[in-house]
Amino acid sequence: MRYLYEKAATPASGLRLHLNENTGGCSPAVVEALRGITPEAAALYPDYADAIAAVSARFLVPDSHLVLTNGLDEGILAASLAALRPGPATGPAEAIVIVPAFDMQAACAEAAGAGIVEVPLEADFTFPLKGVLASIGAGTRIIFITSPNNPTGISVPRESVEAIAAAAPGAMVFVDEAYADFSDSTLIGDPVMNAHPNIVIGRTFSKAYGLAALRGGALVAAPAALAPIRRVLPPYSINVAAAVAIPAALRDHDHHARYLAEVRESKRLLYDALDRTGVQYWVSDANFVLARFGEGAGRICEKLRQKGIYVRDRSKVHGCQGCVRITTGVVEHTRRLIETLEEVLCAAR
Ligand SMILES: *Cc1c(COP(=O)(O)O)cnc(C)c1O
Repeated sequence: MRYLYEKAATPASGLRLHLNENTGGCSPAVVEALRGITPEAAALYPDYADAIAAVSARFLVPDSHLVLTNGLDEGILAASLAALRPGPATGPAEAIVIVPAFDMQAACAEAAGAGIVEVPLEADFTFPLKGVLASIGAGTRIIFITSPNNPTGISVPRESVEAIAAAAPGAMVFVDEAYADFSDSTLIGDPVMNAHPNIVIGRTFSKAYGLAALRGGALVAAPAALAPIRRVLPPYSINVAAAVAIPAALRDHDHHARYLAEVRESKRLLYDALDRTGVQYWVSDANFVLARFGEGAGRICEKLRQKGIYVRDRSKVHGCQGCVRITTGVVEHTRRLIETLEEVLCAAR
């Protein structure tokens, strides 16, 4: 297989700023809810009514417009299977992915048997609308868009999503909004979605809500777009722990708001530090910042690792030569990162 999800090394201790996790932890209400799972509840197939009600309230959509998934990863896999399974249409099925973007999209589309059409971001990392439109063909069944994008943190203009959805009415336009909590902007509820029922939005509770280990995500779309996805999803793919954790997390608005504020402050501190040290970066709508350290990027990551701080070297990813992605979550962690980074940069000069 050509497209593999690269699973980053996950050290047990140290400062994990390499996977965009919520390193401050989930809401204490989640842990309370987990403690409340009884032996009887663990023995029964889970019920999702409460989780669905909480997600429906969070996104202000009726139940018929959403489906829960075992992390957004499962949502990407299910959407790929639904869009790419052999149908009456002839010709090889194709998936359009933007590079660089989240590895799982091409990996899942390929696993579903599709050919992958890669469209590179523009050199300045703006969205390649013309390139995507030019790549749409008879075989196009799914188009993946990530907004805000990972690893750049840059959001995709809604007009671009609309133009693509209009140009490929027979394809699924999958908008991965894994980081939309941090940008405070979403296509859910936007008139663009009503006008284009081929748009499917993917969300996760891993990042902003800190449930990465529990695995919870959701897809939001018009009922007709969700129907083929519901057909490929196992009926009990969300376990009871996630089913009780999701509503507990979504109802703790204060915890969520506090974490978003930490992320905003962390980004501000990191931008200032990068400005001081003359390192190029991209203003991010997510909970991480991509910075270009140049040729020394690998060495800098290694030096930070030796000091117990893990960041993600993205040098080998298309267009990201010399770039490192740094999670900006808890302010205290960001201060530690900045202090250590400044030491490492000073020593290198
Ligand atoms: C983290 C991430 C996901 C996966 O989220 P899970 O819910 O943990 O599976 C999906 N898309 C993007 C862009 C991500 O960064």
